[in-house]
Amino acid sequence: MFYISAHYKFTPLLPEETQRMRDELFAFGEEIGMTGLVLVGTEGLNGTVAAETEEILNIWKQKLESCFGEIVFKDSFSDDQPFKRWFVKIRNEIVSLGDTEIIPHGKHNHIPPEEWDRMMEEEDVVVLDTRNTYETEIGMFEGAIDPSLRTFQEFSEYVEKCDIPKDKKVLMYCTGGIRCEKACLEMERQGYENVFQLDGGILRYMKERPQKKWKGECFVFDHRVAVNEDLKPSERYGLCPHCGDPGDQHISCEHCQKPGMMCVRCIKSMDRQTCSKDCAYQRNLVLQKEALVR
Ligand SMILES: [Zn+2]
Ligand SMILES: [Zn+2]
Repeated sequence: MFYISAHYKFTPLLPEETQRMRDELFAFGEEIGMTGLVLVGTEGLNGTVAAETEEILNIWKQKLESCFGEIVFKDSFSDDQPFKRWFVKIRNEIVSLGDTEIIPHGKHNHIPPEEWDRMMEEEDVVVLDTRNTYETEIGMFEGAIDPSLRTFQEFSEYVEKCDIPKDKKVLMYCTGGIRCEKACLEMERQGYENVFQLDGGILRYMKERPQKKWKGECFVFDHRVAVNEDLKPSERYGLCPHCGDPGDQHISCEHCQKPGMMCVRCIKSMDRQTCSKDCAYQRNLVLQKEALVR
């Protein structure tokens, strides 16, 4: 069993501190056997990590809280190792909105899951998903708006063009809460007065409010692809080998005959079912040769 935790903290670090912190966290994690990816920057830290026992994960959590103060951890589990290796990397932004001026600090209109459910039932609220299309396609809150983002960096432009009235109460959410920290400030910068964010994101919500207003699965950025309602690794989705989006179409590879997964879009656009980019390439060569012979 692998114990997985997603966590972030916005807290200012000096540029020279980020390097020292990166080295310290990398060495500490390597020593206790962590896997996953942690980003460190002058605005704080953001990561998803895994450990083979709950004790090891707790040692990691204690280490982080001793360095950064209180942190909200969003835990889940997997029978398989969700990460190949252990990385701690330095980034300008620990979550990339494409604007280093927007730096969250402290609690700012955060709503815990139970209150979120109450607010969703109020009249005249807009529920806004701040994630990308490949995420919203496999699960969303009931009645939420999908801004159809390809990347989070398109969010500012979406807000400029969207027709949500500036005085409307907006409830926004993302996977673990970190994108909303910036999305919330960006909407306020553009004149929105009533913006709220789901504290701990979908992952915390699913744990505290199972079988309530969340519909579908939640995309995660590791080998699990997504987690289902029990926060267990998805049994439905695999990563489409051609585009990297989640896919739920079981195929038999036209080249190597092995079973595989693809997304609906790639099956349509390629008009071919292959289990990998290489098999797609090989299959194309064969078809081209056959066309020449004919
Ligand atoms: Zn695809
Ligand atoms: Zn194949």
